[in-house]
Amino acid sequence: MVSRAISDVWWKNAVVYCLDVETYMDGNGDGVGDFKGLTERVDYLAGLGVTCVWLMPFYPSPNRDDGYDITDFYGVDPRLGTLGDFVEFVHAARDRGIRVIADLVVNHTSHEHPWFESARSDPDSPYRDWYVWLENKPDQEQDVIFPDAEDSNWEWDERAQMYYLHRFYAEQPDLNVGNPDVVDEIHRIMGFWLQLGVSGFRVDAVPFLIEETAIEEEMPEDPHVLLHDMRRYLDRRRGDAIMLGEVNLEPGEREAFFGEAGDEMVGLFNFVMSGATFLALAHEDAEPLARHLKETPTPPDKCQWFNFIRNHDELNLSKLPAEERKAIMDAYAQDEDVRIFDRGIRRRTPPMLDGDQNRMRLMYSLLFTLPGSPVLWYGEEIGMGDELSLEGRMAVRTPMQWSGADNGGFSTASSDDLVRPMVKDPDFAPAQVNVMDQRRDRRSLLNWMERALRLRKECPELGWGHCEVLDAGDPALFVTRIEWEQRTMFTVHNLATSERDVSIPQVADYTSLADVFSDGDYEPLEDSTSFTIAGSGYRWIRALRTDDPVQLI
Ligand code: MG
Repeated sequence: MVSRAISDVWWKNAVVYCLDVETYMDGNGDGVGDFKGLTERVDYLAGLGVTCVWLMPFYPSPNRDDGYDITDFYGVDPRLGTLGDFVEFVHAARDRGIRVIADLVVNHTSHEHPWFESARSDPDSPYRDWYVWLENKPDQEQDVIFPDAEDSNWEWDERAQMYYLHRFYAEQPDLNVGNPDVVDEIHRIMGFWLQLGVSGFRVDAVPFLIEETAIEEEMPEDPHVLLHDMRRYLDRRRGDAIMLGEVNLEPGEREAFFGEAGDEMVGLFNFVMSGATFLALAHEDAEPLARHLKETPTPPDKCQWFNFIRNHDELNLSKLPAEERKAIMDAYAQDEDVRIFDRGIRRRTPPMLDGDQNRMRLMYSLLFTLPGSPVLWYGEEIGMGDELSLEGRMAVRTPMQWSGADNGGFSTASSDDLVRPMVKDPDFAPAQVNVMDQRRDRRSLLNWMERALRLRKECPELGWGHCEVLDAGDPALFVTRIEWEQRTMFTVHNLATSERDVSIPQVADYTSLADVFSDGDYEPLEDSTSFTIAGSGYRWIRALRTDDPVQLI
């Protein structure tokens, strides 16, 4: 039984699903996904088994950076609907037991935001100090985030006759969080959406949000105070809300963003595990998984790691050792066109694995059993592909494929009017990969995913427990033991494509063993410490020190 206190900390056993409203479902036939369409699909999300939907930015935006450049933090992009439509969706999701978190993008605004318009136009504007200005460009700069488009973090502004800081595109001036008025405004933005029913935020670009600005005297001595204050505000307004931080730093640096007392970010994405998973598959070797997992410390009490295979950006390999980055590029991105920013791959997973269903399922079984909570990117549940003719990261942001009909059932608009084209590659186009067909096919990835997620949620030890990597004497085998309260689970993943014998001496400590989830039919385990596993196979094995069969369920 999961106690009430434990279920309050819902993020420890969450299944997060990230989507962009504009590409998910078009409810009014104008070619752009919207809240009306999304709300029509809420039963699909409930059936899939996700417990939390992370909405990418849905705010008014000129869309220079796919909505991450915001002109009104308190509104909804009119193409997507109204605040009323937003609330209807949140209500419908809550009705099915699904929480909603929103992208909180407060490192910067759009250059078209009224605050920036005011700030650049008038030195006496109350918004002037909401941004970071310099008369002279500094000699030394930090790395630019989008090296394809920018060669500096400072942009000359004709109207202000000064340079302003922008860590992302020049159209995204950085807010000055050294200014207490800006900090108050960030809290107000959080309070607004919490009041409308969200269960927290995915916080964009956290290290950039608190990095030292050029106006250092205005920054708190310890910039983490900003995150601590955000968290205190969050907890005051809604005790069961989360801040899930985008902190793509190297192991050893990122953990500080949980806060020393677990009082900053509630959750952090574990970026390096994504790359490690791809590398382990490519080399049929568990070592990268084991090593990177050892570098992932147990989070502070009630905090959590969030794992993913692919997210909405490129497969970002920047924090992996150079030789590992090269190995992954060599294995999956030989074509220059699929590489991006000298640090990543702009493909979805299925084309990288040549559509190999067994390897895909192996990968998601790994995702669901890594310590932490899993995050899915929409379309992963049906094995959607990408559209490389789209610029940069947009390749993985094509409309959801609901059926084999025109526009993949995403919209009734003319295909010329779609917000983004559908995938064209015949192996991954809607005619080949779609929800409707996979619903009818009991062997489909979608049906597999629904079952995997149901079992993942029935195994809270995976989200809560202590995970230890075991040596199974075969480099292709990734074996873990997860312990939590009275429960123990062994997970075995075979990274090789050929069958292997598995021997786990630690299993001898247990009286009863049972497969909870596996890639196929295996002989009952009973109390054997040795068994087989198919090529690309996986087994989640619950272990008991008693012979109480009920406890094995
Ligand atoms: Mg629409």
